[in-house]
Amino acid sequence: MPMTKPSMFMKKRLFCPGPTPVPMDAAIAGLDSSLYHRTDEFYRYFQSCRELLAPLMGTAQLPVILTASGTGAMEAAVVNLTAAGDEVIVLNGGKFGDRWRGLCEQYQCKSHVIDVPWGAAPTTAQIETALKAAQKPRAFFMQANETSTGVFYPVHDIIKQVQKAHPDCLIVVDAISGLCAHELKMDAWGIDCLISASQKGFGVPPGLAFLSLSARAEKNLTDRPKFYFDLKRELKGQAGGRSAWTPAITLLQSFKTVLDQLHATGIDQVVAHHTRLANATRAAMTAMDLSLFPKTHPSNALTTIIVPQGVDGKKLVAHLRENYGATVAGGQDQLSGKIVRLAHLGIVDQFDVLTGIAALECGLRDLGHKSDLGAGTRAFLRAL
Ligand SMILES: *Cc1c(COP(=O)(O)O)cnc(C)c1O
Repeated sequence: MPMTKPSMFMKKRLFCPGPTPVPMDAAIAGLDSSLYHRTDEFYRYFQSCRELLAPLMGTAQLPVILTASGTGAMEAAVVNLTAAGDEVIVLNGGKFGDRWRGLCEQYQCKSHVIDVPWGAAPTTAQIETALKAAQKPRAFFMQANETSTGVFYPVHDIIKQVQKAHPDCLIVVDAISGLCAHELKMDAWGIDCLISASQKGFGVPPGLAFLSLSARAEKNLTDRPKFYFDLKRELKGQAGGRSAWTPAITLLQSFKTVLDQLHATGIDQVVAHHTRLANATRAAMTAMDLSLFPKTHPSNALTTIIVPQGVDGKKLVAHLRENYGATVAGGQDQLSGKIVRLAHLGIVDQFDVLTGIAALECGLRDLGHKSDLGAGTRAFLRAL
């Protein structure tokens, strides 16, 4: 079944939850390097990116665009919204929740960590315990979509619970992989800081991170020592289209190309598209006799399966890349070798996802998993 190697006929394809495939028109837009960032032309360009992005984040607040990977925006949130010694609450149910924990620890916050088993969403009781233990938490840090496990948390319910116990607590949501795949209404839900990045739902290469602040969060920026990620400075400059430092100009050109299309489509349609792909992918996995890793709250951005008995998970990921040109993601840390993550996030269509499912079927069969070849792709098409 594996293709002959080396082969000019083996195409490389990304099925991992970031970076996601870059559409041709966006890639081409990123080739023009003639734009200078200290010009009125660029200021207008930068502003229009902010204006197009805001409604996708469910907010009237214009987001700050940073030149960084997503973690840069997470660090900016911690540095600008907390002070050393501040009490905070961190929801930790995977690799990215653990990143909030690590950031808050590094910046000397006193954290109440809600440890959730990987693959699960927190229960109201687990959140209640942390809310009770905290006296006057300054901020609550969470993911929307925990990409390491493929779980989408019940964001709105969690926020309501936090607001009830601690109305002054700032709500910070890492929606780096959640945005575009799930409904996230920053203003309506009372999110104070919503974060995303270019290489997930937007199909733009890595290097841009976005962060929107509520009016309340803007008033609560702290005066910790900082330099590169100074949100007060960025908010002031970006109001006129000026970023403090040289922005990733070519990435912004790619970004604008995608933003125009997302804007024309409308965020509700974008979310509906991802929902449809996710539902059909889960049907495919079940038809392939595979178990889904999250028992509840599966993500629309990616589908996580448990590697079946008798198959070596690490070998499967390598085998798919080497023999089929298909890059899926394996598990990290405690899930290493135990799960496979297949993304359907970003600017992808049903036939992109179908190819990923077909590759997975071939790879699993090569490595000894017994299931009817074609069962997954058939179930996927039927579910659509
Ligand atoms: C991808 C991702 C990040 C950011 O990772 P970077 O490598 O810094 O871009 C953070 N949180 C979540 C939930 C993610 O999916």
